[in-house]
Amino acid sequence: MTIQTIINNTIKRLKDEGKLLTPDHYTEAFCKEAKKANMSIEDCAHLARYKEMLNKELQKDLQNYRLNTMNEFVRFLISKINRTNKTLCADTLEAQTHLSKRILQVIEVLHNKEASELAHKTIDMMENAPKPEQLDNYRQRWVNFITTYDDTFLQKLKYLGELDTTDLRKSIESLRELDASVQNSDVDFEKISKLLVASFVPSIASSVNDTIAGLSNRIISNPALLENSDIASEIKSAIALRIALDKESVKEMIESIDGVLDKLSIRLIDMIEKSDNSNNEIQTIKKELESYNEKTITNFTLAHKKLFTIAVALEKNTATLSSELKSHNRSVLEMSQKIKELEDELENVKKESKEDFLTKLYNKRALDEFLELKEGEFKRYMRNFSIVMFDLDHFKQVNDNFGHEAGDAVLGAFGKILKKECRNVDIIGRYGGEEFMAILGDTDLEGSVIFANKVREHVARSKFMYKGERIEVTVSAGAAERKDYVSLKDTINDADKLLYLAKKNGRDRVESKQ
Ligand code: GH3
Ligand code: MG
Ligand code: MG
Repeated sequence: MTIQTIINNTIKRLKDEGKLLTPDHYTEAFCKEAKKANMSIEDCAHLARYKEMLNKELQKDLQNYRLNTMNEFVRFLISKINRTNKTLCADTLEAQTHLSKRILQVIEVLHNKEASELAHKTIDMMENAPKPEQLDNYRQRWVNFITTYDDTFLQKLKYLGELDTTDLRKSIESLRELDASVQNSDVDFEKISKLLVASFVPSIASSVNDTIAGLSNRIISNPALLENSDIASEIKSAIALRIALDKESVKEMIESIDGVLDKLSIRLIDMIEKSDNSNNEIQTIKKELESYNEKTITNFTLAHKKLFTIAVALEKNTATLSSELKSHNRSVLEMSQKIKELEDELENVKKESKEDFLTKLYNKRALDEFLELKEGEFKRYMRNFSIVMFDLDHFKQVNDNFGHEAGDAVLGAFGKILKKECRNVDIIGRYGGEEFMAILGDTDLEGSVIFANKVREHVARSKFMYKGERIEVTVSAGAAERKDYVSLKDTINDADKLLYLAKKNGRDRVESKQ
């Protein structure tokens, strides 16, 4: 590889990296390229050699800076020396800052907007005690500015005549001269007159103002009029008039379209609220709206007409829909009222019902009412009565082993046994899940125990069959006689306690107060 190739590569590298061809950049890039080409260039090794000559402390300090060129190395050393003299160091820094600011102020007033703005921002930044990173950032922005600065327009100016592009003031003077020469040459007034007239005839407004029409005719019939300096002000005011006329027309159009669109959107919102879009009419309207988007509508009046038709169609459609909706609403309301009445009725029936749905015996509500009645008779006429509480034994197992349906069937069958064993004046009912109660009027404890045992024995000897399977069922009972207690509540509680005593004592038995 020749030195020339290394030089070429160096220049290419700088270009690729967007760096300016400064001696520093060049040296740095050249050494890199030389190294890449395995070429040992004595100058490139200078920096490393000199670095080694420094004392250990400085060498360590140096590692914090990425120095690539001799120039930077020397600046590093100078700053080290300067730092040994604090006043000189501060003074130098201050002077450098002043100088930078002054240069930036000059750039700010020069006629390049980008440079001026960047200078302005840089000054601002410098006045706010910038950090080194901020300074570095702005340095980079200036590098970017200069690398992307395009002054080729100056080259273009050259084509217009022999302009001195190194000095903008001189350039402007040359341009003035050029302008004067153009003014003196022949002008095709006929062409210009047509262009001018076109520029002040309104393109949006439908009618041409009299003033504009008069001026157009005068200029077209006599283009030389343009040479007359008085006509310039007339043309100016005609153009102003044209702008005003067009503006007015656009305003009117927008207002008119706005009105139609307002109407349309109100209808649409209404419709969306009141209907589903499967409706045929809406489909038609949708199609109309789609056709509005087609390029066929070139004229405002046509657009207005179409929009208006849509608005009217929507209005009609909404009216039909809302009347339909109203009648639907009415029937829905009537139906919901009926449902409410039925629900209330059902609730009343439930409240009034005294029958247990499963066993067809009395339910708890009925039992409570009869208890009150019997209690009344007891208090007024001293009519005694007994209460027997029954509870099927291990009934949970029945459900678990044979299923709930089987359990229900057993409950029904037990109800029948109860009914069979009691007198028709006795009151029997289901008190809870598998708990039953018998209220035996004018019956003492002994009689009630006899009754309870009859039921118990009947259950024990019965064969409960469910879907071909035998279910063993027994029942336990507790009996209590009203006159043995101070209150009805105590009587019921004791019957219940005795029932659980029967369970405790082995089930399939009746317990009563000894
Ligand atoms: P015990 O001998 O101690 O009375 O045992 P048990 O299994 O009968 O006792 P427990 O009171 O714990 O269980 C009662 C079971 O009765 C539980 C419940 O599922 C069942 N049961 C209550 N009401 C009904 C009903 O209407 N139908 C059915 N199939 N089962 C019911
Ligand atoms: Mg039980
Ligand atoms: Mg129970």
